[in-house]
Amino acid sequence: MSDCEHCRFAEEKELVVFEDELVVAVLAKKPVALGHILVMPKQHVTILEQVPDNVAERAFIIANKVSTALFDVLRINGTNIIVENGTAAGQTTPHFAINVIPRTENDGLKLSWAAKRFSDEQISMAEMQLQKEIQGAPEEQKQSEEKKETTLVGDNELVNHLKRIP
Ligand SMILES: [Zn+2]
Repeated sequence: MSDCEHCRFAEEKELVVFEDELVVAVLAKKPVALGHILVMPKQHVTILEQVPDNVAERAFIIANKVSTALFDVLRINGTNIIVENGTAAGQTTPHFAINVIPRTENDGLKLSWAAKRFSDEQISMAEMQLQKEIQGAPEEQKQSEEKKETTLVGDNELVNHLKRIP
């Protein structure tokens, strides 16, 4: 029996609403609403960054199917589809999961946030840095992939990486 709560859910096969070779969807054991579902890779992966592309694709496709089924079966008005990705984001179980939470008008669930103000300079700096990191230059892409392997063991990168893992 696994130490990981989410691996155990997948092994126990209780409250399973969907399963294939890559992912499993289960009713949450601590639901915030009736029909709160967790969609998880079967393989033990901690944060989204570690989820292989084909598994992430499958997980989000199944989250959408689950959401659609919730609308039809529970006659709800909306769903929140939430990933707590890293400890700072409230993740407490070290196994990636997509929460699909049924919503009805005035259900009292508090998931709202207020916008903060940032200077134009801060915003354009973030835009520039993120664009470079996400898109990269096409000819540099392979190199930066290789570089990542080495920079991950650099002090700050490693510390920042570990901080995200619950
Ligand atoms: Zn696990």
